[in-house]
Amino acid sequence: MKDCLFCKMASGEIKPDMVLETKELIAFRDINPQAPLHVLVVPRKHITTLNDTIEPDAILVGKMTLTAQEIARNTGVDGSGYRLVMNCNADGGQTVFHIHMHVLGGRQMKWPPG
Ligand code: AMP
Ligand code: ZN
Repeated sequence: MKDCLFCKMASGEIKPDMVLETKELIAFRDINPQAPLHVLVVPRKHITTLNDTIEPDAILVGKMTLTAQEIARNTGVDGSGYRLVMNCNADGGQTVFHIHMHVLGGRQMKWPPG
């Protein structure tokens, strides 16, 4: 999608600090990290918000979780723990309108989240 930051990253037009790439997904370090580990897992396919996912996207969304698990393992936070976050629309705090999963780790997370 034209003018979408994460689509430009997926196509290689903009080069983020890439952690992992597959045919369907990219994962890169967040530019404004909220934890020692803060990686975004992003499907190459443009989906604007979580509200726009449909049944055929179920495998893709599942693979986002498995990719997050792999990143946690590769960075050694799988045992200590980590948090996965998907923000949706204004109240959810979404600022980039192409779905993504935050992988946060390396510190104690708080609950409730802010
Ligand atoms: P959200 O607020 O859930 O939509 O998350 C969007 C995330 O994208 C934020 O955590 C931003 O810090 C991050 N972000 C924005 N621009 C970039 C960029 N150029 N490279 C890496 N991460 C970015
Ligand atoms: Zn996009």
